[in-house]
Amino acid sequence: MNQEDYDVIVIGGGLSALTCGFILARDKKRVLIIEKNPFVGGVCSSYEKDGFVFDRGPQIFPSFSKGFQLDNFFREFGLKKRLNMKRPTNPLKISLPSGTLDVPAGLSNFKSVLKERYPSEEKGIEGFFNTISKLKEELYKIETRRRMTLIRFLIFWARHPNVVRYHKKTFSSLIKRYIEDETLKTYLTAPWIYVGLPPSKISALTLSLMISNIYDGGIYYPEGGSSTLAETLVYGYQRYGGKLLLGNEVDSILVDVVRDVPVVKGVRVGDKIFRSKYVVSSVDPRHISNLLEGIVYKKYTESFQKINPSLSVVRLMLGVKGEKLNTKAHDTLLFEYENPDEVYSELLKGNVAFCGITIPSLTDESLAPKGHEVVCIRTLVPGEWWKQNYSQKQEKLVSSLLERAEAVVPNIEDRIVVRELQTPETTSSVDGSVDSAIFGWAPTPDVIQKKMPTQLTPIKGLLLTGRWSQPGGGVVHAMESGWIAAFKIIKFELMEGSSCPTSTSSSCST
Ligand SMILES: Cc1cc2nc3c(=O)[nH]c(=O)nc-3n(C[C@H](O)[C@H](O)[C@H](O)COP(=O)(O)OP(=O)(O)OC[C@H]3O[C@@H](n4cnc5c(N)ncnc54)[C@H](O)[C@@H]3O)c2cc1C
Repeated sequence: MNQEDYDVIVIGGGLSALTCGFILARDKKRVLIIEKNPFVGGVCSSYEKDGFVFDRGPQIFPSFSKGFQLDNFFREFGLKKRLNMKRPTNPLKISLPSGTLDVPAGLSNFKSVLKERYPSEEKGIEGFFNTISKLKEELYKIETRRRMTLIRFLIFWARHPNVVRYHKKTFSSLIKRYIEDETLKTYLTAPWIYVGLPPSKISALTLSLMISNIYDGGIYYPEGGSSTLAETLVYGYQRYGGKLLLGNEVDSILVDVVRDVPVVKGVRVGDKIFRSKYVVSSVDPRHISNLLEGIVYKKYTESFQKINPSLSVVRLMLGVKGEKLNTKAHDTLLFEYENPDEVYSELLKGNVAFCGITIPSLTDESLAPKGHEVVCIRTLVPGEWWKQNYSQKQEKLVSSLLERAEAVVPNIEDRIVVRELQTPETTSSVDGSVDSAIFGWAPTPDVIQKKMPTQLTPIKGLLLTGRWSQPGGGVVHAMESGWIAAFKIIKFELMEGSSCPTSTSSSCST
C-alpha cells in the first residue's frame, strides 16, 4: 500500500475544514485536506452556467463589517486584500401580509427606521439591541470549560449575567421583555428563517448571534461568487505549505486501540493510507460509524440520532432578463403569515409559507451578463418530508415559488434565460450529508446547552468540525468551528507531548 505521513488530516474541503487547515498550516503543521468533490468550499461554492454565476449554498455572508468576527479573521491572518466583500446598499426587505420593511445597511440606520415607525417602542428597541450585543460579548468571553465548582459558577454568573439568564430559554422569552408590538417582534426576529427555527423554539443564544451578525455585522457578498471565499482560504493554506487532495473520498478513518484507549492513526482513500496523529472530520457525524470500519461507539453515534436536523432548502436558480424589478434588495423575505409559528408549522407540512428571493447580481454585477440578473427563489422543507415522493412534489413546489416571485420579478417566466433546480438531493450530493439540513442540527435550547457535539470525540486525536459541531451552522459558525478545532490541536501539542483528551461519552467496543 502507498503511505504518506502528516501531522493533521482534515476530511472535507468546506469552510470549516479550510479554516482549520489554514490555521494549522500557518502554525507549521504538515496538513493534508482531502475533499471528495473536484472543487473546494463544500456548499460554499459557485459555478458558471451560460454566463451566469450560481451559488450552491450561501448568498448571505454576515459579520464582515469592521470589527466583526469574519472581518477580523481575514484581516488578522493577512487575507483581507484578496477578498472583496461587497456590501449591498439595500441588504434586506421583509414582507408580511400586513406590510413591508426595508432594512438599511448599518445598525444605527436600522434602529432609526424602527423608532420612526414604532415611536412608542423606542426604549424597548434600544434595550433589545443592547441585550443582544451584551449577550454576544459575553458569549465570546467564555473560557474553555473547566469543572464547575460553586465559586467558579458565582464568578461566571457575575461575568456573564445574560448568558446565565438566557442559556435555557428560547428567543421569544428574550424579546418579550423589550418589545410589545407583535409586528415589530416579527420584523426583528425575521432572521430566524436563515436558521429554520422560529423564535418560540430556537435558543435565545443562537438567534441573538444571528440577529447581531445580520443587523449589526451586516450582509455581504464575495465578489465573483461564493467560491471566492473558499479560494481565498485555499490561497492562504497553500502559501503555508498545506496540501490539498481534490476529487478523493475518504473511505475510512483508521483507529488503533492502545491500552484500551482508541487512538486515531490516519485515513484510507482507496488503496492509499495517509497517516497522522490528528484527523479532523467535517463529515456529517451520522456517517461516522460507517467511516470507523468495525469499531462501534454506540453511545456516541446513537447520541446523534436523538438530535433533530434543521430544515432543508429547495432553490430555483434563474438567469433572467433584468429590467423593471420590484426590489433593490439583495434578499427579500416573503412570509405568508404574520406569526412565525404559523409559517413554521406550514413549512413542516411542505407548504410554501415562506419564499426568499435573493438577487446577488444587484450587489455584484459581474455575476450576470449585462442587462440580466441572477435570481434565487427558495423555500425551506423538512428533509424527511421531501424524501417521500419528491418527484411529485417538485412540480407543485416550483410553480408555487414562481408564483410568489412574481411580486418581485414581474412576468418572471417570460424572462428566464437559464434555470437550475437545487433540491435537498443536489445539496447532499455536494456536502455528503444525510438530509442536507441547511443549518446542521436544529438549535433548540437543549441542543445548544447539552446535545450539540463538541469538537472532541471518544477517539483520541479525532476531532469534529463544521456545522454539525459547536457552535453550529452558517458561514460564521462553520468557520468558527474550524478555528476551534485548530486551536485545540495547537493547545494539545503545546500541553504535552501528546495527551489529547477525548470526549467523556465514549463507549468503545471492537
Ligand atoms: C443551500 C444552502 C444555503 C445556505 N445559505 C447560507 C447563507 O446564506 N448564509 C450562511 O451563513 N449560511 C448558509 N448556509 C449554511 C452554510 O453554508 C454552512 O453551514 C457552511 O458552509 C457549512 O460548512 P462546513 O464546513 O460545515 O461543511 P460543508 O460545506 O458541508 O463541507 C463538507 C465537505 O466535506 C466533504 N466530504 C464529505 N464526506 C467526505 C469524505 N468522506 N471524504 C472527503 N470529503 C468529504 C464534502 O464534499 C464537503 O465539501 C447554507 C447552506 C446551504 C446548504
